[in-house]
Amino acid sequence: MNVADSERVSSALEHLGYTHTSNAEDADVIVLNTCVVRQSAEDKAYGRLTSLLPIKRDRPEVVINLMGCLVGIKDHQPLRQRFPYVDVFSPPSDPAPLVEYLIQRDARSAEEAETARRFALMDGDLVLPRSSGGQVAGWIPVVYGCSHACAYCIIPYRRGVEVSRPPEEIYREARSLAAQGVKEITLLGQIVDRYGKDQPAYPTLAGLLRELSGIEGIERLRFLTSHPNWMTDELLECVAELPKVMPHIEVPNQSGDDDVLQAMKRGYTAEDYRRLVQKIRDRIPGVSIATDIIVGFPGETEAQFQNTYDLLAELKLDVVHLARYSPRAGTLSARSLEDNVPETEKWRRFRALELLQEAIVREIHATYLHTTVEVLFEDKVKKRWRGRTPTNKLVFVETETNLRGMVLPVKIIRTGPWSMLGELVS
Ligand code: SAH
Repeated sequence: MNVADSERVSSALEHLGYTHTSNAEDADVIVLNTCVVRQSAEDKAYGRLTSLLPIKRDRPEVVINLMGCLVGIKDHQPLRQRFPYVDVFSPPSDPAPLVEYLIQRDARSAEEAETARRFALMDGDLVLPRSSGGQVAGWIPVVYGCSHACAYCIIPYRRGVEVSRPPEEIYREARSLAAQGVKEITLLGQIVDRYGKDQPAYPTLAGLLRELSGIEGIERLRFLTSHPNWMTDELLECVAELPKVMPHIEVPNQSGDDDVLQAMKRGYTAEDYRRLVQKIRDRIPGVSIATDIIVGFPGETEAQFQNTYDLLAELKLDVVHLARYSPRAGTLSARSLEDNVPETEKWRRFRALELLQEAIVREIHATYLHTTVEVLFEDKVKKRWRGRTPTNKLVFVETETNLRGMVLPVKIIRTGPWSMLGELVS
């Protein structure tokens, strides 16, 4: 989501005539887009922000824009006091404050300002960084914010309530990405399968995917992240039937224990999740499934952790994003529950699931050996082209040929827990 947000800022600046550089020392405008989902991310954001101070001291004309969840949607006066060298503060997903600042500084007349403003913020007209050399995969946020309020999660407080974007804006953005050579689009939302629920006139997520399937040049569609309670049969059928919608579902369960799930306010049980996984696998043959897990939620006992371990051992999912519980100021769990699982214990649980999952993924990947898969190639890393299978597995192929943006059959010749090696089928 932050990558997508950053691209929108970058696009607005390209409209104003700026070009992209990844080197802060060379930049006239530095955008620091931040995440605070865990304390470690917040610490990193503060670290990066502090590291920008010498640049601002050397070149006071550099514009520093702090953006994202560190700023949030409420009063950012304390941040302004703490970091007086930041010129612009922007909430998540919003390029407007920076655009406005630059226009105020540079426009020679009110008329010129108005033209620049309209030009820079044309919704749906997305320009990829010209220096990127051809981006293969693009992201489109379709739901901003979140209204679910999981007990541990800070995102609703920092990104605001759930708002679905108008479908026309999404289609326009998708067409502009396709026109710039993008082959794969991932639709984003904190609870992406709730798309349109706040706007009865809008299509469902399945409807969006159906419409986007018609765009020429777009070869693959994905979406994340889904909440188990909103995965409809219509959506699963659409993934099963539309050739461009890839068989990969990101649906976090967070815990395998019913009491922990209830304390997290997730709204389902382990058995509900188990049934959902079965249903997804029944409807979408060969599907891959990814989940998120938090270990060490307040009060999580050894037995409760074991329930999570057992569920993952049973379900054998393709990807598990693991996190150690991190109390976030203002959330329900930080306000009402003591962060009482010791750090060493959180790490132990984390490592146990990591090891379990490594073995599971090794086993899953081994089933790909000697099979032929369709790979969309994205970029070259050292001597190898990197791409993904429909199920979102990383595949590397060693070749001198430029494969960027191509979908090609690849025979898998080696597999490991993190990626696979293949060769082009002639
Ligand atoms: N809205 C999406 C993504 C949320 S952030 C969803 O619900 O799936 C990505 C992941 O970070 C979450 O799924 C959760 O596993 C993790 N996370 C969120 N808050 C956290 C916290 N306070 N401590 C540790 N992990 C957290």
